[in-house]
Amino acid sequence: MAADLNAFITEESIEGADAGPLADATVAVKDNISTAGVETTCGSRMLEGYVPPYDATVVERLTDAGATIVGKANMDEFGMGTTTETSQFGPTRNPVDPDRVPGGSSGGSAAAVAAGEADLALGTDTGGSVRCPAAFCGVVGIKPTYGLVSRYGLIAYANSLEQIGPIAGTVEDAAALLDVIASPDPHDATTREAGADANYAAAADGDVDGMTIGVVPELFEGAHEGVVETVRAAIDDLEAQGAETVEVSLPSVEHAVQAYYVIATSEASSNLARFDGVRYGHSAGHDGNWNETFAETRSEGFGEEVKRRILLGTYALSAGYHDKYYKKAQDARAWVRSDFDDAFADVDVIASPTMPVLPFELGEGIDDPMTMYLADANTTPVNLANLPAISIPAGTAEGLPVGLQLIGPQFGEETIVRAASAVEE
Ligand code: GLN
Repeated sequence: MAADLNAFITEESIEGADAGPLADATVAVKDNISTAGVETTCGSRMLEGYVPPYDATVVERLTDAGATIVGKANMDEFGMGTTTETSQFGPTRNPVDPDRVPGGSSGGSAAAVAAGEADLALGTDTGGSVRCPAAFCGVVGIKPTYGLVSRYGLIAYANSLEQIGPIAGTVEDAAALLDVIASPDPHDATTREAGADANYAAAADGDVDGMTIGVVPELFEGAHEGVVETVRAAIDDLEAQGAETVEVSLPSVEHAVQAYYVIATSEASSNLARFDGVRYGHSAGHDGNWNETFAETRSEGFGEEVKRRILLGTYALSAGYHDKYYKKAQDARAWVRSDFDDAFADVDVIASPTMPVLPFELGEGIDDPMTMYLADANTTPVNLANLPAISIPAGTAEGLPVGLQLIGPQFGEETIVRAASAVEE
């Protein structure tokens, strides 16, 4: 093994069934997904030592399919970050260049796959956290349509935005993992029947002849030159294979990051209220004084980025500001959704750079939250619109991986898998 990448918070094996479609596969599972009997921290001191009493549905599906889980992958604290540097267990390094970040928040998952420490991985994507690390580490990541994959046993960051998604070295492997984890779950009422009959792995047939690809100028604006060139070359290559490209405009997407951060922090402020020193994990323990115990537990247990977001979200939801921020963000979300609906009347998939930047150097951006947030410009619109998207390696710029993002209509996973598999050829 190469220099320690710190891809895992806990390295502990969970054996799967003897036979099944994943019987030969090792899988890294992001540390915000519950594993019965195995510590699950969300990258936070708040949950250090917390051992879930039950498995997430996706974990059950993995072990039923024969997979061996090799450990709990490092992540930004509660999924809040773009570099895995907000993890309270130290940053993960990018296997392509250990002085650079692997992306986030599922950085441990993508690094483990890129370095061969696991065949496959599960991440979660609230605003890009599967696609960003896939792009930065040069592997494949899928953010499924909202409702395709059960969130039961996922420790919530922002419920209305997030999905668990696969990370793998190839499109077919990522799609095969999606086949295992997708389908309705009685424990998660937001899961849907749609997509239940699909065969995602079989869709990786590389056939883009006659497919229409929408190219969105707004999603190339301001991106790193090398990223733009690499992504354009990959799209040209799809054209050479018989796809047709058309320009489509999505004027709403310039508001996506702002809307995303209001909605995500609002939901987070509510979700994270449960970490009070009584029910889970860390407790400051002041005899008898509830206010002091609560305040001290949370001051000690949460890192800076998590605190910043709880404050932002609490503010955005407060009585005097609810209409000004939260409601406006929901209006912007509806606009993004209708822009995509209009676009998908004319095209099969939409293509863009996954990330407008190359992988940051370790420490480069962690003290500058605005820069970090803006790096999510191309991934967050997809979560706001509940759509599926895949990030696929498009090549390199300055020797570093560049990801192409292909976005599909709701439950259009087979189409994005098909298009992405053609990029590999
Ligand atoms: N970078 C985004 C955030 O910090 C995405 C995180 C995610 O998808 N979990 O919110």
